[in-house]
Amino acid sequence: KRKPRILILGAGYGGMMTASRLSKQLGYNDAEIILVNKHNYHYQTTWLHEPAAGTLHHDRTRMRIDSVIDTNKVKFIKDVVVEIKASDKKVILEGHGELEYDYLVIGLGSEPETFGIPGVEEHAFSIRSVNSVRQIREHIEYMFASYNNSEVKHDDYLTFIVAGAGFTGIEFVGELTERIPELCKEYDIDRSKVKILSVEAAPTALPGFDPELVDYAMSLLESRGVEFKISTPIKEVTKDGVILATGDEIKSKTIVWTTGVRGSSILDKSGFETMRGRIKVEKDMRAPGHDDVFIIGDCALIINEEINRPYPPTAQIAIQQSYTVSKNVKALLSGSSELEEFKPDIKGTVASLGGGEAIGIVGTKKLYGGSASTMKKIIDNRYLYLLGGLPLVVKKGKLNLFS
Ligand code: FAD
Repeated sequence: KRKPRILILGAGYGGMMTASRLSKQLGYNDAEIILVNKHNYHYQTTWLHEPAAGTLHHDRTRMRIDSVIDTNKVKFIKDVVVEIKASDKKVILEGHGELEYDYLVIGLGSEPETFGIPGVEEHAFSIRSVNSVRQIREHIEYMFASYNNSEVKHDDYLTFIVAGAGFTGIEFVGELTERIPELCKEYDIDRSKVKILSVEAAPTALPGFDPELVDYAMSLLESRGVEFKISTPIKEVTKDGVILATGDEIKSKTIVWTTGVRGSSILDKSGFETMRGRIKVEKDMRAPGHDDVFIIGDCALIINEEINRPYPPTAQIAIQQSYTVSKNVKALLSGSSELEEFKPDIKGTVASLGGGEAIGIVGTKKLYGGSASTMKKIIDNRYLYLLGGLPLVVKKGKLNLFS
């Protein structure tokens, strides 16, 4: 008799942790586990603002999947998922044809939310993968190089617009304030010529976050030369810059779009019912109407019942969900229908501001500056520890905790 097949799509936080846990919890004969991902490496999405600005090499954020996963127990296939045919219990891959499954875990992550604003897809960059951030870093550097090597001085080459002052936007702006002075030195450009603009439609940066911490972050970033344009919706992105709702134009050759995410478009394409591209999952993390399909991470929508609004998608939640999902897959394999309900346990939130600074809330405690930054590194290292133990922390971790 063929072993039941567990197919895991996407090797992000959710997919990697599910594969790693199942490989430890199941014996060789219990199931065949297959992990599919479009690259042969796993990257840490939560670190991507750093290589995007050029303050950390992208190789520090990624690791080969076969160096972390027990390949005796998990078969890894490098391929792109094209479509999920849940009614036929199979998945279509770009290169390897079709793959059947008995149990499916979908962890394909997210895509930038453009809100249908014209020009975003064509003209803006986004912080979403190693490939995308490598391009941003190179582009920024190219702008510096181009500015000095042209007869006419193009100010738009040195104007950097970050659209969206949520967590990702603020973390990226923070890194830029660290990187830009280095680039100015390297390319003989006066710092006062460079503009970093953080443009946000909502009435505040970091909407929903503690106002005291928001003030701290904004003043700090302003003191490093960031210009905030708050309550300033963008109407259109063009090849020359952005057009605001007021009709004013800001000229720039670099627009980085960080206004939030929606679930992988593969879900919509495969006929699942979604809200902002995410599947509103049952309490046991299964897709409604599909007893053998689990959704994890940014693809899953879960409601915070206290405020009756969706939880923002985070790595923290994706990692916690992997515990419930792996437990529930194991239960189904052993014929049980008693599945665990997922309850997030939000430990806190820390956003880095670059230059050894951060802000955050851990438990009920507000953290600022160096202590928040140290906490951020501890959080980053903790994930590596959960995934690959101490050796992975030593190899890829942020070991210099206090700088
Ligand atoms: P991901 O980790 O995004 O992984 C998805 C995987 O699927 C990727 O490996 C991708 O290559 C693969 N994939 C996608 N499509 C296909 C396809 N068609 N075929 C095959 N493979 C595919 N969260 C926090 O908790 N704390 C933070 O401090 C924090 N900071 C962040 C900072 C930044 C700059 C960003 C961008 C995000 C941050 N987040 C943070 C959010 C967090 O990164 C996400 O919530 C988390 O990555 C979701 O995990 P996931 O497993 O769903 O998807």
